[in-house]
Amino acid sequence: MEVAKVIIDQNSHHTDRPFDYKIPGELREAVKVGSRVQVTFGKGHKKMEGYVLGVKDIEKPRYTIKNLQGVVQNVPPLSELQIDMILWMKKTYLCTYMEAISAVAPPKAYGNIKEKKDVYVRRKISSEKLESQLEKTPNNAKRQREILQYFLEEEELLLKSLPGIKSLYKNAVNALEKKGILEVIEKEKASKLLSMKSPSNPPRVPLTTEQKKALETMKEGFQQTQQNGVKGKTYLLHGVTGSGKTELYLGLIEKALEMGKTAIVLVPEISLTPQTMERFTARFGEAIALIHSSLTLKERYHEWEKIQQGKAKIVIGARSAIFANLENLGMIVVDEEHEYTYKSEQNPKYHAIEIAKYRSEKEGAQVILGSATPSVESYYRGEKGIYELISLDRRVTKHQLPQVEMVDMREELDVGNLSMISGSLKSQIEENLKNRGQTILFLNRRGFSTFLSCKKCGYVEKCQDCDITMTYHLPSDELICHYCGKKKKPITECPDCGSTTIKHFGYGTQKLEKNIENLFPQARILRMDVDTTTEKGAHEKVLNAFKNREADILIGTQMISKGLDFPGVTLVGIIAADSILNLPDFRASERTFQLLTQVAGRAGRGEDLGSVVLQTYKPEHYSIEEAIKQDYVGFYKREIGLREAFEYPPFTALYLVNLMGEDEDKVYNTAIKISKGIRYILKNEGHSDCLEECILGPNPSVITKINKNYRYRILLKNINIDKQLLKKVLKYVCINKRKQFVPDEVNLSIDFNPY
Ligand code: ADP
Ligand code: ZN
Ligand code: ZN
Repeated sequence: MEVAKVIIDQNSHHTDRPFDYKIPGELREAVKVGSRVQVTFGKGHKKMEGYVLGVKDIEKPRYTIKNLQGVVQNVPPLSELQIDMILWMKKTYLCTYMEAISAVAPPKAYGNIKEKKDVYVRRKISSEKLESQLEKTPNNAKRQREILQYFLEEEELLLKSLPGIKSLYKNAVNALEKKGILEVIEKEKASKLLSMKSPSNPPRVPLTTEQKKALETMKEGFQQTQQNGVKGKTYLLHGVTGSGKTELYLGLIEKALEMGKTAIVLVPEISLTPQTMERFTARFGEAIALIHSSLTLKERYHEWEKIQQGKAKIVIGARSAIFANLENLGMIVVDEEHEYTYKSEQNPKYHAIEIAKYRSEKEGAQVILGSATPSVESYYRGEKGIYELISLDRRVTKHQLPQVEMVDMREELDVGNLSMISGSLKSQIEENLKNRGQTILFLNRRGFSTFLSCKKCGYVEKCQDCDITMTYHLPSDELICHYCGKKKKPITECPDCGSTTIKHFGYGTQKLEKNIENLFPQARILRMDVDTTTEKGAHEKVLNAFKNREADILIGTQMISKGLDFPGVTLVGIIAADSILNLPDFRASERTFQLLTQVAGRAGRGEDLGSVVLQTYKPEHYSIEEAIKQDYVGFYKREIGLREAFEYPPFTALYLVNLMGEDEDKVYNTAIKISKGIRYILKNEGHSDCLEECILGPNPSVITKINKNYRYRILLKNINIDKQLLKKVLKYVCINKRKQFVPDEVNLSIDFNPY
């Protein structure tokens, strides 16, 4: 008798195993491995759907087996490769089958797709005003306070993204709406599908010698692996901003297509790189399928259908496009490979590069990781020869990298300038306006207000054991290290200079815009941040307006740092270079260097030479020093030494166990039980000596509470202990013994290589 092993489409670890169903004779033809099927489940014979992961022939079952009810129409079955990947992901990321399937399988499409509207909550007042509102809100308005906290950092959130929002919270949202602080709005699901042009055969630029050499090397590598049928190579293409990397991607894809192969191109966020997209569509047109999160369901379905039917030879998209089930995959390009958007925030918490490498091994595809500022981990692999490292050191355009001028903002304070704009930046903007050059002003708001800093000398309190900025917690008025849990009273006097000007940082793009308006009333100003780009297509509108020189100054957040090519920009001003230096994250220095280099790279891409003014409170920090020189390798050399000294990746692996739930005691006790369980087993395995270093926590997470949910974390580091063993122990305690350790009200998730 033929039995199907079915994974039930229900995201619960209780049902996270294959269930047997008999394949009745009339369905034998229709049911395949990978099919989406209808079944009845449990004692109540509830109608459910699921996926067939395997079919086996058994003699006589020892128990009664239910019949499969049918096959779901219009859903293509999972391919063999996809099923392999699902099994591998489950093993690798310790997620459930359904979580892995949801990541890998294209979106389900049932009959008619109705477009639903999204409900958003957005704040109507500035975050500064909101902060004072929060202070005014009485403590007994607990839910209102919680919701307000949420909007300190965010302008707008999907209503349903506020986890566990219940009627009491809805009341709180309504109350805040009545007060004019928040508003609830419905929006059409935004579509940002770029118009698909047929290939226009734009004139090909002759490649520079440097480009040619790089392209030849990668093409040869491709040819060899394709002919010998071995696993594909991974290249790390490190090329300064404007060195013509995109031109090389185009060349490589062309080669892949010539050899009958297909290609995937990953970009951090499509809506942020419309110009890059245009270059691809101009060259390859209809052969491209575009996949990204702002497509409507209908559009997304259409694009996946194109892939499924083999009409698309190239898939371009954000993170999830790595799962595109193209046949004959030959080339995977990961542009701006250092971007953290490649890491999934949901289970399975994969990184797109990990999936790319898996596919490269399985399907023989070549991987190209491109960046002006590679992740430290990638560059390390390049140095070690695990990746083949290719460097482009020169810009293709007339001018080389712009000069960066550093302004020490502490000295501005000394001369009585308390504003966000230094004297030097002010005069350079003036000069640039006169010469009809365009200016970009960059301000990053992330990470402000969560740490304390001395305004006079820039001192920031760090944990001595972890070298991580301590995070300020308002409710308890404490500084906490989110790695090891160490606590401290906040400083009121700077230990370095004795000043008492200890401040929360708090800047905003709106405030900056006002500032600039006052200073330069004659200038035409555009602002690009979450506030100004919520409307459909607003993003492109702002970018196009600036490109067409309808404005002199563009003020923006990290949105403007990525891959934009404005030939008219001759001045870039970085308002606070150290803004993310103080995130409680061992990657904070790396991200600072990357962001500064990317932003600086927006200047001087056209006919005229560019310059950059970088304002900072921390000019002696190596990330800032090397960013001023725009010397990636210089930065890398200093960073890698610290990574080794403090035992961070790539020298150790980090595993993070997240626990979340409404009952803080339960969450905390679960965390304690789990960490004890891990310690106990490691002790038995003879590792009592390294427990202290290996298991950090449980500690409250950086955001200790999201809506009703308390969050705790346990961090594991493989110091003096085998990675595989640590992973095995983790699996045993968190997955195999889950019933014993984790009550249903507590949510547990595991992150290998957390970001
Ligand atoms: P990167 O991706 O390395 O920042 P791009 O590929 O975007 O660089 O190239 C920057 C600009 O230079 C683009 O406008 C591109 O069309 C142009 N370009 C690329 N290669 C050449 C070349 N060999 N000669 C002239 N212009 C080029
Ligand atoms: Zn100080
Ligand atoms: Zn610490």
